[in-house]
Amino acid sequence: MNRRYRKTIIAGNWKMNKTATETKKFAEDLKAIMPKAKWCDVVICCPFVNIPAALRAFKDLRIAVGAENLFYEPSGAYTGEVSADMLKDLGVKYVIIGHSERRQYFGETDVTVNKKVHAALEAGLHPIICVGESLEQREMNITMDLIALQVKSAFAGVPAEKARKCVVAYEPIWAIGTGKTATAEQANEVCNAIRATIRHLYGARVARSVTIQYGGSMNPKNAAELLAQPDVDGGLIGGAALKPDQFVEIINAANQE
Ligand code: PEP
Repeated sequence: MNRRYRKTIIAGNWKMNKTATETKKFAEDLKAIMPKAKWCDVVICCPFVNIPAALRAFKDLRIAVGAENLFYEPSGAYTGEVSADMLKDLGVKYVIIGHSERRQYFGETDVTVNKKVHAALEAGLHPIICVGESLEQREMNITMDLIALQVKSAFAGVPAEKARKCVVAYEPIWAIGTGKTATAEQANEVCNAIRATIRHLYGARVARSVTIQYGGSMNPKNAAELLAQPDVDGGLIGGAALKPDQFVEIINAANQE
């Protein structure tokens, strides 16, 4: 990480876990063990229905609330969908876009990811744009090309002043929920390549200001080493963000770097 130029962001991705009642309990448990000072921004991205409870519960802890998805149209006949403005109006700050589970199970593509990035930015939300390769793609040695393509597609048509508001999360699919983590070197290599792609698109100033997270089985044991890498500016955390003690240990690791 490099605190001089960009924010360190530790973000939890709760996926389809926890009720509103459990959200409140999590916040109470967290409050008892949260460090007084934080040198990183902390975000919890939770299911839509838990957002009001999360906003209430995390306010005192100065934890921002994020959503896990949105729909790119501003309003209209899209039964079951949630717009960027609806999230913004509630007080949501971040939104995960293009998580590999959404690409895998819900048909998201680089094209829909780009539309969602535009919608989020238009509403004043910070998109957390997920990119990452499968194990097969890594073994075929196409990781760097694929990631560059995902990043270029996600940022297509986004002006520089808005690109600065984006967060990119490098999440190798083979490391998500599997307990297999990318080595610190592998994580930094790809995060560095993501920054190089952003530099190519927008120049050095924007590239050095964008927070690039690593995600994929980050936990209290491996967090410090991953976060010590110069191009890893935080984590997007699934499983370990469901447990207050583990989440706090990762925040503490970010505090120490
Ligand atoms: C994720 O879902 O974004 C993630 C990184 O999950 P996990 O930490 O459980 O691998």
